[in-house]
Amino acid sequence: MAAQQLSEAGHKVAITEAMPSPGRKFLMAGKTGLNLTKNEAADVFLNQFDTPIQLRPMLDAFGPKEVSNFALGHGQDIFTGSTGRVFPKKMKASPLLRAWVEHLSTLGVTFLKRCRWSGPLNTNHVHNFETQEGTVQISAPVMVLALGGSSWSKLGSDGAWSTLFATAGISITPFTAANVGMRIAWSEHMVPHFGQPLKNIRLSVAKKMSRGECVITSTGVEGGAIYALGRELRTSHPRRT
Ligand SMILES: Cc1cc2nc3c(=O)[nH]c(=O)nc-3n(C[C@H](O)[C@H](O)[C@H](O)COP(=O)(O)OP(=O)(O)OC[C@H]3O[C@@H](n4cnc5c(N)ncnc54)[C@H](O)[C@@H]3O)c2cc1C
Repeated sequence: MAAQQLSEAGHKVAITEAMPSPGRKFLMAGKTGLNLTKNEAADVFLNQFDTPIQLRPMLDAFGPKEVSNFALGHGQDIFTGSTGRVFPKKMKASPLLRAWVEHLSTLGVTFLKRCRWSGPLNTNHVHNFETQEGTVQISAPVMVLALGGSSWSKLGSDGAWSTLFATAGISITPFTAANVGMRIAWSEHMVPHFGQPLKNIRLSVAKKMSRGECVITSTGVEGGAIYALGRELRTSHPRRT
């Protein structure tokens, strides 16, 4: 997104990606249906975020409508499901990613793959990258870091950048699990129900409500209806160590 904006503004842009191809987690996100956004009133949508006040300017500029238009603009028809979630009709992320990468290439954006930024942060416009040929240095007056979180590290984002930030004395908010299932120590009684989907359900935690579906697993419950309550589950049922 940043590369596209900068390139359209006339800047020369290169995207460096640690993995052999970009957008691997984005592709994984589309494996069970890429939920692009939600079709709901702006205030309701905004309040799903942990820091709605700080995010308001960004979401005013690029909210659910713009996300839908972004997908449509890349040739992806979309639909709204019964819970208000918006998906591409093809459900997968790959056609959208392909069209997006093609568009960036048309704009002249260069992709440098297997090229892992390794710091430093207090640099004089010279940045180090680990490549198959060893460490290379690239000079650029501006660098936008969009390195992802620390889950699903096999897809590329391993959170290693947080160490580089710490070395440079930049504090970060510690990583927190967000879109995750809930662990429950089921009794024997529940064993026959493992793998059973719960459809068209309504769940609530601490006054927050979510609709959708989830699955009973041997270790708890998983699925969209649970993920939407992640913040409330975290704060009202803090993990015991
Ligand atoms: C199973 C699953 C289902 C999901 N479903 C959905 C969904 O339906 N809808 C939705 O909106 N979201 C979904 N998500 C979440 C979504 O995939 C992420 O929120 C999104 O990919 C985050 O984007 P990002 O650009 O911040 O980080 P990432 O997608 O992780 O991208 C960061 C990139 O930076 C690269 N990188 C990291 N460090 C370096 C470095 N030092 N140098 C160079 N490159 C580096 C990584 O290789 C990676 O490609 C899902 C996630 C998973 C795992």
